[in-house]
Order: sequence, then C-alpha cells, then structure tokens
Amino acid sequence: MTSDHRPGKATVSRRVLLAAGGLALLGEFAAGKGRGGPLRDRAASPKPSGPAAPPRPDRAASADARAAAARSQNERAAARASAASPAPDAAHGSGPGYTPTASGQPMYYLDDGPMVIALTIDDGPSPVYTPQILSLLRRYGVVATFSMVGENVAAHPAIAREVAAAGHLIINHTWTHANLTELAPAAVADQISRASDAIGEATRTTPVMFRAPYGAWSPAVLAQCQQMRLAPLDWSVDPRDWARPGVSAITTNIMRNTRSGSIILEHDGGGNRAQTVAALSYVLPRLLDEGYHFRTA
Ligand SMILES: [Zn+2]
Repeated sequence: MTSDHRPGKATVSRRVLLAAGGLALLGEFAAGKGRGGPLRDRAASPKPSGPAAPPRPDRAASADARAAAARSQNERAAARASAASPAPDAAHGSGPGYTPTASGQPMYYLDDGPMVIALTIDDGPSPVYTPQILSLLRRYGVVATFSMVGENVAAHPAIAREVAAAGHLIINHTWTHANLTELAPAAVADQISRASDAIGEATRTTPVMFRAPYGAWSPAVLAQCQQMRLAPLDWSVDPRDWARPGVSAITTNIMRNTRSGSIILEHDGGGNRAQTVAALSYVLPRLLDEGYHFRTA
C-alpha cells in the first residue's frame, strides 16, 4: 500500500513554514476572509510572529493548520509505524509570485487568485485506477497533476502517455517512492534523475516539478531539486485516501477543507484506490458547482 504519509524527519525550516502557514490561515480566518478569499502561499508569511488568532478546535480555518500539525505529529508517527505502507506526497505549484529559486521551499498552495485549486494524483501510473481517474477528469473537464513514480512509468509507459496527452501535468515522484531523507546525496540524485528519465522517455516531456514521497523534505532534497531545476510541490488538503478511511470520510475532508489555493492530494497508485475513484466522482462536480476552477500545479 502506499501513502505519502510523512515519515519522521521534517526539517526545522519545514516546521517553521508550516507553523507560519497555519498561523497565517488562522489570522485570515479571524479577519473574516475564510473560504472564498484568496489564500496566499504560506511562504509569503515568513514568521509566526504577527498577531495570530488562538487556535480554534473547529472546522474551516483550523483545518489546514490542523492538517499541517497532523503531518508533523500523528501522521508521521503513523507512517513510521506502518513502514510498509506507502505515503502520499505533496504538490507543487508555479503560480504568479512563486520563484522556486528564491524561496527554495515547497509550495503548499497555489497563488493564482480566488477559487483556483489544484488536484494532485500520486504514486501511479496504475493500469487499474489511472484510466478510471482519467475518465472522471475527462467527464468533468478537470485538469490534474500526476506525481508519478519512475518505475511505475517504466512499467506502464502507455498510461503515462495517455495522461500527458489528455493535458494533465506529470511531475517527478522519485524512482521507487523512496524516503529521500534517509538516502545519501548520490542516491537522492539517482532517484530523481531516473524518474525524470523514465517520464521523459514515456511522454517526451521533462518534468519541471518534484514531489517528495511522504512529504519528506530535507535541506539536501531541496538542494537537489534546485540543482535539477525542479520546483518542490507539497499539498494543503490531505484526506488520507491512501489509508482507505471510507468514501464519505474522503469526500467530507475535501469538501470541508478546500478553499482558494488549495492543493488536494489523492492517489491512483500504491494499492486499492477504489475509494479514491468513488470520492472523486462525488467531489469533482460539487467543487465545480461551488465555483472552483482546477489548474495544474
Ligand atoms: Zn507518493
């Protein structure tokens, strides 16, 4: 199974970024700009030093902050406990204002105006689930970003081609879905370059973004991304579909937590993704009805 659940080694900079993002979200919510208001890139709010609303235990505003906190706590612990289970990853974005070489930090939100969101689909391609998801995306006219694992691309190049031909974005998700924070620099470079090679061979396009398996970023991983000119992409809405919590749990999480700028994490690879497919068939028309526009990361 797979999930991009976060193993333990986040860096200080990541924690700071997450904390800053969570506080910024809370502050925005307190200022009455909850859902619907443009949510800016967390990286735009440098430090949690400004006046911040006290954490609220309930819904909307705290959801992203909670998600961030959960990553640093429970989910990482869960990921460690279930080392056999793959974990989902993060998204990347390149909206206006995003300059990977300037910040060097992963992108958690799009910065492309109100009601613009991104759907990211990780760990494929899968001969079983990727075609089902492509069919849904086609039905609703939605574009998505697929974080592909290199060895899966090598095994199913025609599916990767189909994804690219449908106008979706394919990004690098390592060769074997490795936790790069546990590897030596040469192995990190090998994981990333082999995946880019496989994607390039299958689709004739070179990935320009990278999502770390398990959202496991480190200064070394980010430096490698910078060297390879890959923008690091994380996510902001994680319904933990990889853990198969039930279709309604997935849909409720997405509908409750999505707002302008959200990068939603889902999975087509790494295990049985029937719940993910069912959840997408439910949330895609509803998000469109709410006025959201999908773009690639
Ligand atoms: Zn993953």
